[in-house]
Amino acid sequence: MSERRFWNPEIETMAPAALRRLESERLVTHVDYVYRTSPFYRWVFDQAGLSPDHIKGVDDLEKVPFTEKTELSRAQRDGALIGLNQCAPFDQIVRIVGMEGGPGNLLRLCWTRRDIADHNEMGARALWAMGCRPNDLIINCAGYGLNGRGLMEHFSFETIGATVMPYGDGNSRGLMEMLTAMPRDVVFFGSPGYANLLVGLAEDEGLDLSGLGIRRGLFLGQGGRQMPADRSDLEDRFRMTARDLYLLPELGVHSAECEAAQGLHFFGGGLVHAELIDPKTEQSVDWSNGARGELVFSSLTREACPILRLRSGQIVEVFTDPCSCGRTSFRFRSAAHEA
Ligand SMILES: [Zn+2]
Repeated sequence: MSERRFWNPEIETMAPAALRRLESERLVTHVDYVYRTSPFYRWVFDQAGLSPDHIKGVDDLEKVPFTEKTELSRAQRDGALIGLNQCAPFDQIVRIVGMEGGPGNLLRLCWTRRDIADHNEMGARALWAMGCRPNDLIINCAGYGLNGRGLMEHFSFETIGATVMPYGDGNSRGLMEMLTAMPRDVVFFGSPGYANLLVGLAEDEGLDLSGLGIRRGLFLGQGGRQMPADRSDLEDRFRMTARDLYLLPELGVHSAECEAAQGLHFFGGGLVHAELIDPKTEQSVDWSNGARGELVFSSLTREACPILRLRSGQIVEVFTDPCSCGRTSFRFRSAAHEA
């Protein structure tokens, strides 16, 4: 059972044209739901002179104005807990996490059970591609704070059947003592920054990091930053293999490297639609191999707080040539640090 190659073979190997049809169908239903239930998006559509009838597929998304995070947090002002983009009744909302929503504003992101199941599905596809399996013991060093970073991924790991220890990002000395005494190898999950903190601590204490038994590291990149030099330094010090994971928390989008490590695969297929735009002209860019642009994401199934055309701010180079792993999704690497 654990030898399956893909978490979701149907979606992960679907021909791009077929996936586009599936996403178009879901988008039409979703836009209808969003327009009926979200006062925020009804206002956006009305202001743009749009009705749900104008959206007949993903090609029509470019008619919809972009959503900025600051607009979402503004829609939560005036004492409202969830605000004008609350699309599911409160008794169906089971989780709220918070994130920075512009200067001095906390954006509260809400999730129904189905939203969380979809998040876990995207997470499971990504983690499986990164080599995670049910026999793995994951030390989750992402913070278990309000931003949900550690918590949300905790359940993605459980979805694939891996074993998670919810360590968080505090008490680093205790972590090193625990791992030194651990009778088996583990998988590290956390930020490169936290791994570098461990490097500094080990240097201070004269400790050999390779003795911690961390043979694989799954790193939360800020926008898939993929800094090759940083990464190989960490791989050498810990004697591990590192893989990068990019998360867009507003939509639960996961992108991650497969074993071929030729860019980050997009794992939102069927649940989140991705567009590529020119950040200056804001026009669509074709998905050709080597194209550059900014990623823009829209939910296709989200119940509690749907989001249409969220600009990620991530400037990427995309790859659409076949990957040796057999997955058909586009891949990308961050182009931000080249600018
Ligand atoms: Zn691949």
